[in-house]
Parts: sequence; C-alpha cells; structure tokens
Amino acid sequence: MTKITIAIDGFSSTGKSTIAKQLADWLDYIYVDTGAMYRAVALFAMQQGFISKNGVDSLALINALGGVVLHFQKNEDTGAAEVFLNNVNVEKQIRTLEVSAQVSPVAAISAVRSKLVDQQQKLGQGKGVVMDGRDIGTVVFPDAELKIFLDASATTRAERRYKELTQGGDAVSFDDVLANVMERDHIDSTREDSPLAKANDAIAIDNSEMNLEDQFHIILQLAKDRIAGRV
Ligand code: C5P
Repeated sequence: MTKITIAIDGFSSTGKSTIAKQLADWLDYIYVDTGAMYRAVALFAMQQGFISKNGVDSLALINALGGVVLHFQKNEDTGAAEVFLNNVNVEKQIRTLEVSAQVSPVAAISAVRSKLVDQQQKLGQGKGVVMDGRDIGTVVFPDAELKIFLDASATTRAERRYKELTQGGDAVSFDDVLANVMERDHIDSTREDSPLAKANDAIAIDNSEMNLEDQFHIILQLAKDRIAGRV
C-alpha cells in the first residue's frame, strides 16, 4: 500500500503526540515526536550550564552542538519510542516544567533548528511517518500528503498538561502550567526562524470539545482518503 507522510502541528498541549502515536500504531508507521528532540537539546543546555537567569548562552550552545547526539529507542514494556541524549534515556527528565520553561528560547536558535530538521528529514525520508511538532507541515515536510493543525483553548490545554504532570507525580501549580503554555505559544509563534504557523494546505481542528475517540476517527479517515489517493 502507498505510504504517505503525515504532519501534525499545533499549539502546546493540544494532544498532538497522542493522536500522532495512535495514527502511527494503526497505520504501522514510524512516529517521531520532534518536541522531544528540542526538549533534549534544552536539557543538554541546562546540564552544561548554558542557561542562566539572563537567558540562553546561544554561542556556547551552538559551539557545543556537535556533541549532541539524539536517538529514539522503543521501550519494550510500553511500546513507546523514548528519546536518548548521548545514549542516556532522558524521556522522563525532558517532560518536567523546568525543561518546558527553557525549551522555546533554545528552539528559536537557528543552528539548533537546522541540526534537528536535518535529522527529522532523514527519519522521514522513506515516508510512512507521522511527525508532530510546530513546523512539520511548513518546513520539515512541506510536501506532506496530510497536514493537520491542532488547536484548543489555552485553559483546556493547560488543564490537560496539569493532569499529565500531577498524575506523573510532579508537584506543579495550575497557574504555572497555564503561564508556561501561553509563554511557549507566544515565543514559538513570534520567533524569526520557522515560527509556529498553520500551513496553507493544513486542515485545522479545534479539539477543545472533542473526545480522543472522535478526533482519532476523523483524522484516521482523512489519512485513509489520502493513502487511497481520494483527495
Ligand atoms: O511538542 P512539545 O510541546 O513537547 O515541544 C516543546 C517545544 O519544542 C515547543 O514549545 C517549541 O518551542 C519546540 N518545538 C519546535 N519545533 C518543533 C517541535 C517543538 O520549535 N517541530
């Protein structure tokens, strides 16, 4: 069967990775969480002391980028792909609010983006891939056969993220989570290099009032139509 490229972009915590994973499992496609890659680089910058209260030392980070090696590996127990930074599994560490607070300024650095975009394009070169992020339909795979752009109200998104973090045992406040979601959206949408934007040919879906099952059926149908060359 023809394999296609599926790009899922959108604002923070719109459930991009949940739907992307579901689709990839159903279609037996590769799933790539590009946010995890930017988060891993932000964690690296934190570990190296490149981030202070004055912001990111971009020059130091750019000089050290050659020493950042990222790969994904399947967790045999959960079946989920997890991200490794220089051969260390950092899947749990990159999801903390501390990393969320630093990732957008790191992701605004062009040298970081070009390194990661290059790796993402290689991962998806054989098609049969579902990739989620902010610039997949606009920059990484502008020719993707199916592009989805997800949105939901800021409060709904913060509620989802807050639930996820507290269920995972993180003692965070709802207000901090909401502030982080809004700040990241602002930085991501206004940065100069590849800002978060809906591609002209992407299908916009607001899932504030939608349950996961309904959303999955709508997007799966779109994917099946594209695979069959119907639209
Ligand atoms: O998807 P997630 O929320 O984990 O992404 C974390 C951050 O990584 C985003 O807020 C954004 O700054 C950056 N990002 C990006 N481009 C992508 C994916 C993520 O700039 N393709």
